[in-house]
Amino acid sequence: MEQMIGPGTGVAGTPLDCIVIGAGPGGLQACIHLCRYNFRVLLFHRPGGRTYHAKHIENYLGHRIVAGPDLLETGLAQAESFGVTVARAKVDRVEVREGFFEVQAAGKTYKSRFVIAASGARESLAPFKNLQRFFGKSYFTCMICDGYRTTGKKLLVIDRTINGVRLSVGMKQMFTGDVTFLAHGFSPLPPYAALLEEEGIGLVEGRPEELLGEDSLEGVRLADGRVIPCEVILGWGGITLNDEYLEGLPLERDAEGFKIVTRSYGESSIPGLFVLGALRQGHSQAIISAGQGAEAAIEISTRIVEL
Ligand SMILES: Cc1cc2nc3c(=O)[nH]c(=O)nc-3n(C[C@H](O)[C@H](O)[C@H](O)COP(=O)(O)OP(=O)(O)OC[C@H]3O[C@@H](n4cnc5c(N)ncnc54)[C@H](O)[C@@H]3O)c2cc1C
Repeated sequence: MEQMIGPGTGVAGTPLDCIVIGAGPGGLQACIHLCRYNFRVLLFHRPGGRTYHAKHIENYLGHRIVAGPDLLETGLAQAESFGVTVARAKVDRVEVREGFFEVQAAGKTYKSRFVIAASGARESLAPFKNLQRFFGKSYFTCMICDGYRTTGKKLLVIDRTINGVRLSVGMKQMFTGDVTFLAHGFSPLPPYAALLEEEGIGLVEGRPEELLGEDSLEGVRLADGRVIPCEVILGWGGITLNDEYLEGLPLERDAEGFKIVTRSYGESSIPGLFVLGALRQGHSQAIISAGQGAEAAIEISTRIVEL
């Protein structure tokens, strides 16, 4: 639901101090810091995002375990308690002007001295039948996030590239002795197959079609009808950046033209435009985004008051 945003929020007249795009851990932490300097901050919040889909976060300081939506709800309430203006709208465009930015959303244009892009990324999931039933519960795509949850379980690693061999060996070293590697649509070269055998990791070649099980995962059915039993899967999945509103801006990107390159405190190649989380190079975790949000906000504060 798009929300109309009232006057005094940079629609006309004096630019706001900062516009934050995305109410994930990164954007929310930035808002908390900025608003505790009493700056005028507008947060654009389009619900969803990767943290929202994280069902059980166990590596965020201060929470033994927390569901992504709960972390976000608490964070939003905290940011609001310090006075952030929240606009439940998707940002469509950011334009660079002389000394300020213009941000377009819900048919209006807002002005701001600084912008923090914290809009994260979205998952590109494999097209396996029933994947949604198990995603985040027993089908994982991120070893850092969920490798721990495979500890001692019957694990199937699925990958379309040789990287899956390395991942399988790593998973065996860290989490579980029962690992099978499903090479999705390719045959690993003999040295890789030999390495897997040496490590006691099963190798299957085939094309997965369907995840089996009702409440709990029981296995994977391949296109040729074979069934590979497993309790947990570490599967492939890519991400697409939520950066459409930045298209056409002269932002420096990495060698693949994908992630945004940042300088100190997360500032992009466009002065005053800071970038957090999955949009920029580096590891992507909720607590890292939050730290980056705090860092960008502190840097912006020093510029605003010219310390
Ligand atoms: C299933 C799963 C499990 C995970 N488990 C963990 C874990 O255990 N621990 C951990 O640290 N990390 C985990 N992660 C990764 C973690 O969620 C990300 O690293 C984290 O989301 C980064 O936070 P963020 O604030 O950068 O982005 P996000 O949480 O993705 O937030 C970005 C926000 O911006 C919004 N947005 C996007 N485009 C726009 C726009 N144009 N205008 C306005 N708003 C917009 C999105 O809707 C979203 O609300 C997991 C991810 C997934 C998918």
